[in-house]
Amino acid sequence: MSCNTNFVDILNQWPPERVRELISAASAHDVEQALRNAGRMSPQNLAALLSPAADGFLEQLAELSEHWTRQRFGRAVQFFAPLYVSNFCINGCRYCGFNTATKECVRNALTVDQAVAEAECLAQQGFKNILLVSGEDRKNTPPEYFAELAGRIRRHFASIQIEIYALSSEEYNLLAQNGIDGVTMFQESYNRSIYADVHAYGPKRDFDNRIDAVERAASAGMTFVGLGALLGISNWRDECFYLGLHADYIQKHYWRSCVSISFPRMRPAFGGAPAPYPVSDRDFVHLICALRVNLPDAIMILSTREVPGFREKMVRIAVTKISAGAKTTPGGYSVETEAEAQFDVADKRPLAEVARAIASMGFDPVMKDWDRAYD
Ligand code: SF4
Repeated sequence: MSCNTNFVDILNQWPPERVRELISAASAHDVEQALRNAGRMSPQNLAALLSPAADGFLEQLAELSEHWTRQRFGRAVQFFAPLYVSNFCINGCRYCGFNTATKECVRNALTVDQAVAEAECLAQQGFKNILLVSGEDRKNTPPEYFAELAGRIRRHFASIQIEIYALSSEEYNLLAQNGIDGVTMFQESYNRSIYADVHAYGPKRDFDNRIDAVERAASAGMTFVGLGALLGISNWRDECFYLGLHADYIQKHYWRSCVSISFPRMRPAFGGAPAPYPVSDRDFVHLICALRVNLPDAIMILSTREVPGFREKMVRIAVTKISAGAKTTPGGYSVETEAEAQFDVADKRPLAEVARAIASMGFDPVMKDWDRAYD
């Protein structure tokens, strides 16, 4: 669709001082009002529910979150697996051990044949949704690599999505034509000065280009667009306010795409810096529920960064899609490799075990819930 504004224009209307003031000024009365408005997104509602004043309303927030999740998603829980194809990267993200400065990182880039073998291994386990992940590595894994890989594995999967570097419109079109139907692009931080600080060098340093990539992907016809902020990199209340604005904007302007929100909480990572703003479990529940209550239709994703038990608890109240049996090493499923993993996985259970745990709670583990009507 054509539109005269993009999310960067909206973002520029919300400098950090304005957001901080709105959040810190929220009163208990504002929180009660926002709880009454549950299901309707507005910057005021979102700020109130993310505010310190909402800390004492966590139980009501969780109940409302559960209500909206059941109403919009029933008891279905989708499963997916990440497939890391390369840990080469030319960026300088301070929080990630795949950055070029981590000289001791053992690197590996899968050939298309090796990546096909990895994908087939996941298909044999029962996965129908796959997420191809790569560092910024146009040399080993250019867009044409993903186009070829998707073409070769699409018969095994209902959905093939990517979490790689920002592409041009033409490149997203190429991938869409070859069967890739989703793009995840975490902004990491919506605060420009923190973003510049943690992205020391490399193409990812271009803040606006990264934000715009989401809209280029949606314009290319991607069915799924995924957003996220790296939790722990900055103040979670501010970051989640921006994340909510972003998701709301994409839902309203690119209504043909389903928006998902992921909640990557910083984990110990090989060569990566520790979280400067650690997010406690209580705050983590708070922020996810606040976003759910404002964005009832958003797919909410929790990865294996989080521990068993906690993941199940979040499925009950907000989360609708989870990974399982994940390896964050390129080649980790089927190829012998010494390559480094991106972060420590906290839930190491295989797919079957996680699916059993979800089913025992009265939920439906879903490997695939739709088919392409064309091929
Ligand atoms: S976070 Fe992604 S872009 Fe940044 S160094 Fe790691 S792999 Fe590269």
